[in-house]
Amino acid sequence: MTLPELLRGIAPFVRPYRRLAVLAVCLTLLGACVSQINAWVLRYVVDETQSLLAARDAAPGGPLRLLTFVAVVLLGKEALLLLIQFGQKYYGEKLRVHIARDLSQSVIERILTYKLAFYTSCGNQPGRLQARIDRGVESLARLTQILFVDILPLFATSIVAAAMMFSANFQIGLLGVCVIPLYYYVSRAQALRLTPARRRIKRLRENKSQGILSILEAMPVIKSFLREAVEEERQMNLQRDLSSAQLSIRRTNFLFDGLKGLIEQLGLIAVVLLSAWLVLQGELSLGGIMFHILLFNNASAPIRRLHLLYDQMNDALTYAEGFFEILRADSQVEDSGGYAPARLEGRFELRGVSFSYPGSEAPSLRELSLSIEPGRVTALVGLSGAGKSTLINLLDKFYIPDAGEILLDGVPLSAYDTAFVRNNIGLVLQKNHIFSGTAEENIRYGNPSAAQPELEEAARRACIHEDLLALPGGYATQARDLSGGQQQKLALARVFLKNPPILFLDEPTASLDAVAAEEIKNCLDAVKKDRTVVIISHNLAQIIDADRIHVLKDGRVVESGTHEDIYRLNGSYREIFDALARSLNMDKIARSFEE
Ligand code: ADP
Repeated sequence: MTLPELLRGIAPFVRPYRRLAVLAVCLTLLGACVSQINAWVLRYVVDETQSLLAARDAAPGGPLRLLTFVAVVLLGKEALLLLIQFGQKYYGEKLRVHIARDLSQSVIERILTYKLAFYTSCGNQPGRLQARIDRGVESLARLTQILFVDILPLFATSIVAAAMMFSANFQIGLLGVCVIPLYYYVSRAQALRLTPARRRIKRLRENKSQGILSILEAMPVIKSFLREAVEEERQMNLQRDLSSAQLSIRRTNFLFDGLKGLIEQLGLIAVVLLSAWLVLQGELSLGGIMFHILLFNNASAPIRRLHLLYDQMNDALTYAEGFFEILRADSQVEDSGGYAPARLEGRFELRGVSFSYPGSEAPSLRELSLSIEPGRVTALVGLSGAGKSTLINLLDKFYIPDAGEILLDGVPLSAYDTAFVRNNIGLVLQKNHIFSGTAEENIRYGNPSAAQPELEEAARRACIHEDLLALPGGYATQARDLSGGQQQKLALARVFLKNPPILFLDEPTASLDAVAAEEIKNCLDAVKKDRTVVIISHNLAQIIDADRIHVLKDGRVVESGTHEDIYRLNGSYREIFDALARSLNMDKIARSFEE
C-alpha cells in the first residue's frame, strides 16, 4: 500500500471531523507564530542590554522598564501558548478517539456482512483477524493524530522559523535550510531499512495472538496430554523471534537517530560560526546570534521528529494494508437475492450440486441430487465426512454451490433474500454457542421482541422450563453454568422461540447422555409436526422415525427411501445401520429385556 492510497483510505473517516481537524490546524499555525516570540525577545534583550550598558547614566529607569517589558511579554506568551497547546492536544486526541471508534465500528459492521467462507479461509483465524483489526485501528487513528497534532504544528513552526531566518539574514537562512535535505535523506534510509522488519513483526504479532487463543481454547487437551512444555516451547520461539525483530528495529533506530543528532549539531555549529562571523563583520547585531540559534532550533526541531512521522507512517502502512483488506473485501459480502414470498412451503430440491470449501482441493459434494419434502422429516445418514453438514451449510446459504442448483419451492435458492431464508430456518447443532449471560437472554436471542409467556412456552417445549425453575437463579441463572444437556435444551428453546417452519438438526443429541438425548428427542418429536425437518443423526431411533432417509457417501447420495425400503437393499445403509445396532450390543440388550 502506498501513502496516497493510505491517505485516501482514511479520508472518509476524517471527513466527518473536518471542522475538528481545521481547528487543530488553525491552533497549530497560531502556536507556530507565538513560539517564535522567544527569538525576537532574546534578540531585543541582548541588543537593548548592550545599548543600555553603553549609555548607563543616560536613562536611569531603562533597565527596569526593559525587564518588566520582557517579563510581561514572555509570561503573556506562555499563557497564550498554554491555551493553544491545550486546545491543540485536546482536539487532536478527540480526533484520534473518534476516528478509532469509527474505524472499529465500521470494520465490525462490515465483517458481519461477510460470508462464512471469509472466516474459515486460511489466514483469517480469529486471533489473526483480531490482531489485524486492533493494530490497524490503533495505527491509523494514531497516524491521523500525529498528522494534525504533532507533525503539522512542528512543520508550521519550522516553516515560520525558516522564513524568519531568511528574512533576517539570507545567508544564515540558506545554511540552516541546507540541513533539511540531508536530514530527510537519512530519515528515508532509516524508514526503508525498517520496512521489512516491521512486516515481520506484524506477522509474528498475528501468530502470537492466534497462538494465545489456541492455547486458551485447547487448555483441557493440553493438560490431559501433559503438553504444557510443547506449547511453552512453541510460544517461546515466537517470543524470541518477536523480540529479536523488535531489537533489530531499535538498533537501526538508535544508529540513525544518532546520525541525525550529529547532522543537527553540525548545522547548529555552522549557524553559530556564521552568525558570529557576521557580527564581527558588523553585519549583524550581537542579539542576532541568539536570534538565529533559537530560530534554527525551532526550524530543526520538527525535522528531528521527522522519524516519528516516518515510524507512524510505516506502522500505519504495514497494518493498514491488512486492515483495509478486511474492510474492503467486497467479494466476501454475502450474496442475496430479493425474493421473499409471503409463505414458504419448504420443498428443497438439489440438482447435480457440487461444492468444495474455499481453499480446499477435494470436493465435499459431487453432483448431488435429492429432494426434501415439505412437512416431512428427512434424515441424512452417512459416515463421518460424507458431506451431511456441508449439505445443510448450502441449504442455509452459508456457502454457494460451485455447480448445480438448489431450488426452494421451485425457485433458485440464490434468488431468495438471504435474511428471509435464514429467518425461516432454525438450526440446531451438536454443540450450540451459548452466549455469556443469563438463560433468559440466551433464549431471547431467538426473538428479542417475544413476550414473557411466549418465551416460557418455548422453554417448556424444549423441556428446560422446569429445570430452570428448580434452580435458585431461575431464568436469571448464568447459561454457561448449566449442564451440557441443559445448554442444548436452551439452544432448542432459542430455536423454538424463533419458531421457523424449517428445522435443520445436525446431530442434536450426539454429545448428550441417554436421558438428555431421549428428552430432547421427545421435544423434537413434539415440534416436528407440520414442519420441514432435516436431521443428521447417528441415533437409530431418530433415523427410523424419519419419513425419508438419504444415505450419503463421498459427497453423493447412494440410497434414498424409507427405512424399510433401503434396509432391504443390503447396501451402505444396512452396513451403517447394522454397525450402529451392533455398537449398542442389541443382542445383549434384547436378552436383558427377555429376562
Ligand atoms: P459430515 O457432516 O458428513 O461428517 P462434512 O460435511 O462435515 O461431513 O464434511 C465433508 C467434507 O468436507 C469432509 O471431507 C471435510 O473434511 C470437508 N470439510 C468440512 N468442513 C470444511 C471446511 N470448513 N473447510 C474445508 N473442508 C471442510
